[in-house]
Amino acid sequence: MDDQRVPTVLSIAGSDSGGGAGIQADLKAIASCGAHGMTAITAITAQNTVGVNAIEAISPSMIIDQIRAVAEDIEIDAVKIGMLGTIETTEAVATGLDLIPAAPVVVDPVMVAESGADLLQPDARSALVELIIPRATVVTPNIPEARILAGLGKEADQTALARAVLVLGPSNVVITGGHSTGLIDLFFDGVDLVEIEGERHPGSSSHGSGCTHSSALAAFLARGQNPLEAARSARKVASRAVGNGLDSLGSGPGPVDVFGLS
Ligand code: PLP
Repeated sequence: MDDQRVPTVLSIAGSDSGGGAGIQADLKAIASCGAHGMTAITAITAQNTVGVNAIEAISPSMIIDQIRAVAEDIEIDAVKIGMLGTIETTEAVATGLDLIPAAPVVVDPVMVAESGADLLQPDARSALVELIIPRATVVTPNIPEARILAGLGKEADQTALARAVLVLGPSNVVITGGHSTGLIDLFFDGVDLVEIEGERHPGSSSHGSGCTHSSALAAFLARGQNPLEAARSARKVASRAVGNGLDSLGSGPGPVDVFGLS
């Protein structure tokens, strides 16, 4: 990377009109980590702190056009993938990734919104596993998402989940958010299992925390950190954002705040 150039991250993700998660959270997290954020929007959600009222997918050709437009002109140092929604969108994103084969890819396998809305149609899960997860430098499921990806039940602990998700083909896995006393992310690269401790903020809303964590991780990769260093740095950013949560913003759970605005 040219020393004079700011690191860049392309977020391929959905829009949250309430500004709590999705590309809105991604751009804030990327900027807060010292990188320039760009977007290829996969879907638009009409949503607020209470719930998701409507979802509209962006056409596959427009998704690929956004990725191509950025890739033709701007060097992409890392990619973050969030909400995919449908099989067609997942296939389009896989095609788009072929345009940027060198960039490390962080995949946040977004499935269900806090309010219960499906952000990945259940019939698109196998496309995510087959087309996207194997291309990930780091995949960052929370425990329920990891159970679905790995096809394992409640008996599987974080270690079993990390091992099972790695078998799907990513280079590294971070199973986010387990807790014994504090909050523990479990990092696995096929050799070392590393516990990453983070501050828990019980009672604070976590809307946007997964987006913030995966975007920060991509930004730290873009800045040249290795995956384990980036996972440690991203946990600090995401935990702080949850601690700063804007809980008085609407009548539902407020968004995390990576900038500490209040
Ligand atoms: N992407 C979009 C567009 C969303 O609306 C949401 C949650 O509502 C997510 C991703 C996942 O957000 P989180 O960071 O809370 O996992």
